[in-house]
Amino acid sequence: MLLSVIVPCFNEEEALPLFEKEINKIEDTIRKDFDFDMECIYVDDGSSDQTLRILKEYNAKDPANRYVSFSRNFGKEAAMYAGLKASKGDYIVLMDVDLQDPPSLLPEMLRYVVSGEYDSVATRRSTRKGEPPLRSWFARKFYQIINKTSDTEIVDGARDYRLMTRQMVDAILELSEYNRFSKGIFSWVGFQTKYLEYENINRSAGQTKWNFHKLFMYALDGIVGFTTSPLLFAAWTGFIFFILSILGIIFVIVRKLMFGDPTSGWPSLVCIILFISGVQLLCFGIMGEYLAKTYLEVKNRPIYIEKENSDKE
Ligand code: UDP
Ligand code: MG
Repeated sequence: MLLSVIVPCFNEEEALPLFEKEINKIEDTIRKDFDFDMECIYVDDGSSDQTLRILKEYNAKDPANRYVSFSRNFGKEAAMYAGLKASKGDYIVLMDVDLQDPPSLLPEMLRYVVSGEYDSVATRRSTRKGEPPLRSWFARKFYQIINKTSDTEIVDGARDYRLMTRQMVDAILELSEYNRFSKGIFSWVGFQTKYLEYENINRSAGQTKWNFHKLFMYALDGIVGFTTSPLLFAAWTGFIFFILSILGIIFVIVRKLMFGDPTSGWPSLVCIILFISGVQLLCFGIMGEYLAKTYLEVKNRPIYIEKENSDKE
């Protein structure tokens, strides 16, 4: 049996040595307790620092340390996809390099899937402690909205740290969409998943690659990728305003016929025009977002472009 550990790395020269030390420790345990072999697939997501050089060193030391290197930064989603594609293991685990996904949890995770009880063991953070309040609020709202409107369940606080069987990974690889939102994809493919919880851990070294804007765009990707209800929202508001306008017209006509009032009140008219055009633009925006995603999808561009690969050395 072989366990593949997939590690996306983007400018991680500081975190990599710490990670390698930890994973080697766990590798010994897994060899002893489970009689498993282990390979590490490091995906260099277009790093501009020494990451690739370090990965080459690891590979020279032990060929079970493989690497895939991208031609530029394609993002973590692309890196995870490339890693899953390159993996050869019977069980596959995705792990961040910054030790926020504790490797010490691996034996416990492995136990659940090896027993055949579960197809996948995922992790979630139990609290949002230490996060800026505004970010927490947006995160909570995001999970509320997407879980209300989408058929696919997106677990609040779920991390990408996840152990899966070969069968599940093959299913995921079949979803070769360009706009990837893994939290949704993992859940969309189904299979029995066990969730383990742990407190958020701080990054071991280096800097996070996410800022508020990136997270916001990522959340939009998730909503557009896994629910079409915003489009329905546009249709419904249109319908409601249509009904309201009919009632309004009837009201104005009746008032004119019965009381002969002159038509007046242009300030309210201006407000109504502004309001309706605002709603219209919002709905256009929603449609545009779906159209844009469709446009990117039909172009059928590759999810990533590989520059170097340890298998081709
Ligand atoms: N990462 C990546 N490509 C990117 C951004 C991040 O491969 O464009 C990797 C990064 O090297 C790390 C993991 O994704 O292993 C998680 O990134 P980070 O720790 O910055 O995110 P956070 O834990 O703060 O959400
Ligand atoms: Mg991190």
